[in-house]
Parts: sequence; C-alpha cells; structure tokens
Amino acid sequence: MPRKDLEASSNGRTADFGSAYEGSNPSASTSAPEQARPAGRAANHRAEVKTLPLPGRFLLAPIGPLPRGTIPAISVALQEIFGSPAEPIPPQVKPEFAFNKDRRQYHSTAVLRRLEALRPRGSDAPVLGVVDVDLFVPDQPFVFGESDRDARSALVSVFRLKGCDGLPVSPERLAHRARVEAAHATGHLLGLSHCGDLRCVMFLAHSPADSDRKGEGLCGACRSAMGRP
Ligand SMILES: [Zn+2]
Ligand SMILES: [Zn+2]
Repeated sequence: MPRKDLEASSNGRTADFGSAYEGSNPSASTSAPEQARPAGRAANHRAEVKTLPLPGRFLLAPIGPLPRGTIPAISVALQEIFGSPAEPIPPQVKPEFAFNKDRRQYHSTAVLRRLEALRPRGSDAPVLGVVDVDLFVPDQPFVFGESDRDARSALVSVFRLKGCDGLPVSPERLAHRARVEAAHATGHLLGLSHCGDLRCVMFLAHSPADSDRKGEGLCGACRSAMGRP
C-alpha cells in the first residue's frame, strides 16, 4: 500500500492532515499546501528545500488556554532538538476571529497569518503559536498544525493530541505528544520535509498513536539536513 505521507510544497507552507484524511488523495481535491509524495521516493529523505539557518532563539506564543505545562515542555524540547532557546511571549487571547460557526472549528491559516505580528520589531526570530482548539483548512476535516517557512511562523494544536477515542490521556503522554508535534511544526518552519523514520519527529503523524511512537529528536538524515551534528 503506498504511503500517504505529504510534504512541503514549494510555496513554503505545510499543513498536516489528520487520520480522517487517510485513504484519499489530498492533492486531488484541494489547494491546501501539502502534496502527495511522488511514487518511489526513498522513505528517509532530505529537506525538499534549503533549510533555514538555525535561529538564535524561537518565540513561543500560547494562544488561548492550554493544558498545564504545555509551553515549558515545548520550550525544553525545542532547545534540545534544535539547540536554540525558545522564549515564551505573553499569552494571547483565544483566536475567536478564526472560528467558523458552521464547522465549529478554527481556521488554521487565519491564526497562522497573525503570528508574524507577535514578533518584536526588528526581530527575525521564528514564532511558534500553540493552541488547544480544533484547527481546519478548507477541504480538510482537520489539521494538527500548519507552518509557513517564508513567514517564519508555525502553529500547532494540542486539541487532537488529547485523543479522539474518548479515553483520557495522561499529562505525561500529552506532554510527549505536544513536544514532538511542536518540534514537527518547527522543523517545517525551518525547511524540513516529512521523514519516513517513524521515530523521527518529522514523521507525519496521522493519529496520536503515531506521535506516541516518535522519539524526541530528529533522525540522522534530518539532523544533517539541518546542519546539526
Ligand atoms: Zn508535517
Ligand atoms: Zn528524520
């Protein structure tokens, strides 16, 4: 069975579709920014585009209420994985401007576009927004996150990481999922594409179970694409 992995398109924007989308071809029905992987590609591949140099720091933006400990957990993970400190900025209000009444979800791209404005004047630090609301892009049931390399912004949601099966998830497990998926969105922001190594944070998770299998780091190929030892 061919893999359904998706990867960054040339416009530098990447949205990660969820498990509800498995079994169909995203590029057939949408202009959303991920495209199906060409057949026959090596599973473990390099970045499609030149990666950005590692920044001096990341900015972490909590947007609306989040599970306790989410931002500190992500901050530590980004420092460990990318070697740059991630500094929290003041919490932002819940993004009601992006709420779609019909879908009862929040438009991911609308939230993503506003992240740039949170960067202090004169700074080029990448911004990672973190939300606990259900995100969507048109024509997709939901997305886990979205990244814009050119705008140096990324967005990740912990909403679906809490599980779709109705079973409560432990705080430790949720923190692991938040760390690996925040690192995944940050990897896209820096120019990394999806990785076939299911232990690598750049593996595309279709479900929280996929996030659980990931280790908290980049595989060797992704590290070398980033210029990391
Ligand atoms: Zn992705
Ligand atoms: Zn990798």
